[in-house]
Amino acid sequence: MIETLIDIAYLVAASFFIFGMKRLQSPATARQGNRLSAIAMFIAVLATMFVADILTPVEMLIGVVLGGGIGLLLARRVELTSMPELVGALNGFGGLASALVAGAELSRYLTNDSSAQASTLAIADFDPSVGITILLSVLIGVVTFSGSFIAVGKLSGKISGNPISFPGMRLLTLLLAAGAIGAFVMVVMNYSTILSEPDPILWSLVGMAGIAFFLGILLVIPIGGADMPVVVALLNSYSGLAAAATGFVLDNTALIVSGALVGASGLILTKIMCDAMNRSLLNVLLGGFGGDADDSMVSSASQDGKSINQTSADDVAIMLSYADQVVVVPGYGMAVAQAQHQVRELADLLQSKGVRVKYAIHPVAGRMPGHMNVLLAEANVPYDQLYEMDDINGDFDNTDVSLIIGANDVVNPAARHDKASPIYGMPILNVDNSRNVIVLKRSMRPGYSGVQNELFFNDNTRMLFGDAKDSISSLTEEVKLV
Ligand code: NDP
Repeated sequence: MIETLIDIAYLVAASFFIFGMKRLQSPATARQGNRLSAIAMFIAVLATMFVADILTPVEMLIGVVLGGGIGLLLARRVELTSMPELVGALNGFGGLASALVAGAELSRYLTNDSSAQASTLAIADFDPSVGITILLSVLIGVVTFSGSFIAVGKLSGKISGNPISFPGMRLLTLLLAAGAIGAFVMVVMNYSTILSEPDPILWSLVGMAGIAFFLGILLVIPIGGADMPVVVALLNSYSGLAAAATGFVLDNTALIVSGALVGASGLILTKIMCDAMNRSLLNVLLGGFGGDADDSMVSSASQDGKSINQTSADDVAIMLSYADQVVVVPGYGMAVAQAQHQVRELADLLQSKGVRVKYAIHPVAGRMPGHMNVLLAEANVPYDQLYEMDDINGDFDNTDVSLIIGANDVVNPAARHDKASPIYGMPILNVDNSRNVIVLKRSMRPGYSGVQNELFFNDNTRMLFGDAKDSISSLTEEVKLV
């Protein structure tokens, strides 16, 4: 009876997960989708507390309160700009948890201790399929763990964003991968001797986990800092696969379904990001794209001797006030400055003066897909003023002023024509087609890809230097005076 109820609860949770994810597709329903998915997770956790195979409900409750408390604290404290790091760390812990649970499951087959009878499993049930899923879970889980924490280090700047490599690295990676596969095969081939001779199997498992740890590191360090968000999405997918494998080991439907959903959605997200940058996944993993900017790039003269034009808040305020159409282009800098509320205020003011204001959203503006949508939704910008790249690109010809707020790579025209540029081929917002371009940033430092932006040297571009929040506030004050 209780098993049936648990299965029904898992089914309800799985459906809620799917409906929740569906609702995440639009900014208008995203909050609802998030709530639905959180309820689904609550139902799944609650139902699992009645599966008293290993731990007592009280022990599980302690885990839930501890884990939930840490999660709550982190979620409240984390800045939106650090979200990719948090997601990366959660992926890493997810991978480690899957590996540990699967590893512990193996030890239950090996326990002969009569005092632990309740939690031991019959060795007759240990067939190759159980062995393979345990191994997959440990292998993918540990690779996800170490890879994710390298990604977190690169995102937070604790590890250099430059691609790191050394002579023979690819060969070493291949050898380690071969070693992991060898240890994997060794365990599967010898599963029948697991009771009489457990040591070689256990050591092979530990060896495989060790190799997987270094493999995770070697797979992520050669990837450039600019591609870390893609790597985080890919590792998110791995953590889902590890969880699904652990779900098979434990015969837990909720874990299988949620792991498969995370695995699939992480892969889809990875593909969306690669498409938005017009790059293949292989190019992301092996391309060594982006890194820490060096000071030679922080110059106000272009390579062909052109220089930038600076402007002031009062000049821009006049330009904005007399425009028919202004397109706001937010980027990562708006997130850093937390300027979204000031942007909304300025847009409202311009609209009250009869100016048409639109927002152009590039799919990879910021540091995660949907980053700009989340920020603008927080400031209650109406969704119908938000335009996707393909919908707005033809409209820049009719735009008097494009107001670039902390965006850089996503408006770099070199992506369209400069075959030597690392961002060549990435679809961009064609802001250079508008009559005037105003760029709000603090300095001439390049964007995340580390390449200088030729837009800044165009004749119709003016630079307004300063923190985006301060610059927008000054603009609003000046527009009020016009
Ligand atoms: P960029 O990283 O290209 O540029 C951000 C700009 O913001 C910088 O030039 C910086 O200049 C400026 N800035 C930073 N802080 C402030 C501040 N307080 N006030 C004003 N300006 C500020 O951002 P984009 O959004 O244009 O591009 C996103 C990049 O991230 C792309 O390269 C994309 O490929 C990459 N990426 C994004 C993913 C996603 O999912 N969104 C996924 C994978 C990669 P300065 O320091 O001079 O102020």
